[in-house]
Amino acid sequence: MNDIINGFLKEKRANSFRQQRNFVYFRWMALLLVIPLFFLVSGCSRTEKSFWFTFLLAILYNGFQTLILLFMRPNNWIKKFISLAFYFDIVFICAFSYIFNGIDSDIYILMFFVIAYYGIGKDVSGTINISIFSIMLYTVSSILVKADNIEELNFLKLLIRDFFVLLVAYGVSIVILEVKRYDEMHKREFKLARTDKLTGLANRHMLDQKLEEEALYCEYSKKPLNILMFDIDNFKKFNDTYGHVWGDKLLSLFGDIIMQSIRKTDIPFRYGGEEFMVLIRDLDLETAKSVGDRIRRQLEKQNLFAGEGNNKGKVTVSCGVAQFPTHSDDIKKVVDYADRALYYAKEIGKNIVVSYDEIGKLREAVQIDIDTYLSK
Ligand code: GH3
Ligand code: MG
Ligand code: MG
Repeated sequence: MNDIINGFLKEKRANSFRQQRNFVYFRWMALLLVIPLFFLVSGCSRTEKSFWFTFLLAILYNGFQTLILLFMRPNNWIKKFISLAFYFDIVFICAFSYIFNGIDSDIYILMFFVIAYYGIGKDVSGTINISIFSIMLYTVSSILVKADNIEELNFLKLLIRDFFVLLVAYGVSIVILEVKRYDEMHKREFKLARTDKLTGLANRHMLDQKLEEEALYCEYSKKPLNILMFDIDNFKKFNDTYGHVWGDKLLSLFGDIIMQSIRKTDIPFRYGGEEFMVLIRDLDLETAKSVGDRIRRQLEKQNLFAGEGNNKGKVTVSCGVAQFPTHSDDIKKVVDYADRALYYAKEIGKNIVVSYDEIGKLREAVQIDIDTYLSK
């Protein structure tokens, strides 16, 4: 089982690593193919020596980044490094631009790629920051090229190029906002599909996936998982007496009671009509039972009655508890065991929490004769 967990972690790490590797490919492609092409097309007013020197420096710089990106595990430090690397790239592009005749060279186009690549992985404010940084550095390097003969500098051309940088940043920002909007919409729909509208708890669609995840976590951490199964007592009577609308309100109230009685790490579900389930990690069976009992007492305290005269009954809740892997190392079986414990709780008189171990042992304790109950 540990292999499966390790497999998950590996997969996650492999995704980050793949991104880093693609990022490295992109950088080498830009450096080894595009820059010499620009060199050929633009010509170079500086000595060829200075071009090769800068090119060599860039190769060393890229090689250093490649070593870090390919041989370090993805972590927060690497993320910061990648963000910063884009700023260094702009410095290099401006240095190249300086060597290739300033604004007479087309190398500034590379800045668009850097801004787009950086922006899409970041947010709008990050995109604006890097584009302003690019404009400032590009303007300075263009002025420096013509420092001796400043009247030769075509300011209009420079202005238009800076404007294009802003335009690219604007375009990237629009894409970021659209992607985020789509992402949020998708997340909302994803949540809706997995949430029970009435109670706001997770619904049954979510259960299978969560059960598997929690079971994996428990096997990995060597801690138990408790499954608490609840079924409201006399709910049909309550529905028949007050109608479905009030029945729904009761379900919603019970959902709130559950939410208020559990920890953040516990996972509540609406399992079916008036059946609920709570998964509790990392707790011994007795304490898990006491959580179930707290929930049971909270509903009992509401003093809700249904039916009239002899048929009158109190709305309470019964609960069955089973533990993984104590009762079985098959999580589906543990659900079934919690269900059986719940069924037994109903048999012996309802309004009680019963664990799987206690099935068949509680009859005397609650002093209810099962035959009398069944003949009711
Ligand atoms: P017990 O005490 O043995 O648990 O009996 P019960 O009456 O609670 O349970 P039973 O299974 O006989 O009835 C459950 C009822 O729950 C039947 C169904 O009409 C009602 N129900 C199921 N889903 C909903 C719902 O979403 N809203 C409302 N208002 N009622 C529901
Ligand atoms: Mg039921
Ligand atoms: Mg019921």
